[in-house]
Amino acid sequence: MNGPIGLDSLASLDLTSLAWKEQGLCREVDADVFFPERGQPSTEAKEICMMCPVRTECLEYALGRTEHGVWGGTSERQRQKMQGRRVRAHWNRASA
Ligand code: SF4
Repeated sequence: MNGPIGLDSLASLDLTSLAWKEQGLCREVDADVFFPERGQPSTEAKEICMMCPVRTECLEYALGRTEHGVWGGTSERQRQKMQGRRVRAHWNRASA
């Protein structure tokens, strides 16, 4: 799967099972690639994620958690922004 993942599609996933982790491409790569030092690029990890068959599941798993490193093709900072948008959208719907 390439391209951005919509937040709405993430919310419909069933993540009670973590079996998707077995299919992650990162299992075949040095973990350091996915946990770069602060200020270091995460480009290589994100490129691997873009080819990963379980990117959607991985991203949903990491959203809302304080997971460090690259998950689902996003950095921790990107996930914080996504989670903020999700919370705002929820509140906007609730107050409409
Ligand atoms: S999306 Fe990236 S971090 Fe997540 S399982 Fe796939 S390769 Fe690993």
